[in-house]
Amino acid sequence: DTAEKIAAWRGPGATADGEPVLILANVADGVSARAAADAPVQGVGLFRTELAFLDRATEPTLEEQTALYREVIDAFDGQKVVIRTLDAGSDKPLKFVANTDEPNPAMGVRGNRIVATYPEIRNGQLDALAAAAKGAGAVPWVMAPMIATVDEAREFAGQVRGRGMVPGVMIEVPSAAILADKILAEVDFVSVGTNDLTQYTMAADRMSPELASLTDPWQPAVLALIEMIGRAGEKHSKSVGVCGEAAADPLLACVLVGLGVRSLSSAPAASPAVGLKLGGVTLQQCRDAATAALAATSASGARDAARAVVGA
Ligand code: PEP
Ligand code: MG
Repeated sequence: DTAEKIAAWRGPGATADGEPVLILANVADGVSARAAADAPVQGVGLFRTELAFLDRATEPTLEEQTALYREVIDAFDGQKVVIRTLDAGSDKPLKFVANTDEPNPAMGVRGNRIVATYPEIRNGQLDALAAAAKGAGAVPWVMAPMIATVDEAREFAGQVRGRGMVPGVMIEVPSAAILADKILAEVDFVSVGTNDLTQYTMAADRMSPELASLTDPWQPAVLALIEMIGRAGEKHSKSVGVCGEAAADPLLACVLVGLGVRSLSSAPAASPAVGLKLGGVTLQQCRDAATAALAATSASGARDAARAVVGA
């Protein structure tokens, strides 16, 4: 019966007392975007553009990139589309960017950090995004991965605004969470990448199955950082979303909303269960679940505490 209710859920996302929470999809290309558009989601919360670059020996041309971005924007005509600039490096090395011999690639030149050596790659991508947006008559939100400093956020925001788009950054490095208030003074929105935020907060490789109990977004230290980000978002009246796997966990979704998150983006298959769960709880219950989870001293303790407030 729960499975039937999940299958029947159609959105839009909101708590039982009507607080809107956008339920969004993570996509990789035009094909996955068109498939996601058939799911009960209200837009795209994370378009991982680097996936289009990974199998290429050379940088895709401006025209090729523009066509690809246009496909995703068109699949969600008139809806929200959040596009992430290239997050290459570490586990996603690029053949045409020559810094492959780093001893510690997860902490190396990845994400927006390539701008120091290859500004034309990231700025060319922004040109292609602006061309796609113009062609579609859309105003996409564009965010940078792996932002660690306020200066990086400011530089990125200037480049995106200068091309008529809405700038944001991912918060997936602990320093950016700690400085969320100052970063939100520079950009129009943030999206929390809980996969990497957990990895870097816990100093535990997200690819290591042996460390799964550490790479758990229920870890109270991770929740405490998300609380800081949520507070900063409320102070600035700017959008705080989550686009890591944490957004696919219905119980954790309640806690995230209680911490101030107002959009949840994940693989579209997860959205109905998340939407249904949120529709059954009030915003105050979400806040109480968040308070209870934050008071816990372990990930399992945080889960149990949240479950005691909002149910399994
Ligand atoms: C994240 O880090 O949570 C995230 C959404 O980005 P990716 O998984 O692509 O690193
Ligand atoms: Mg990430």
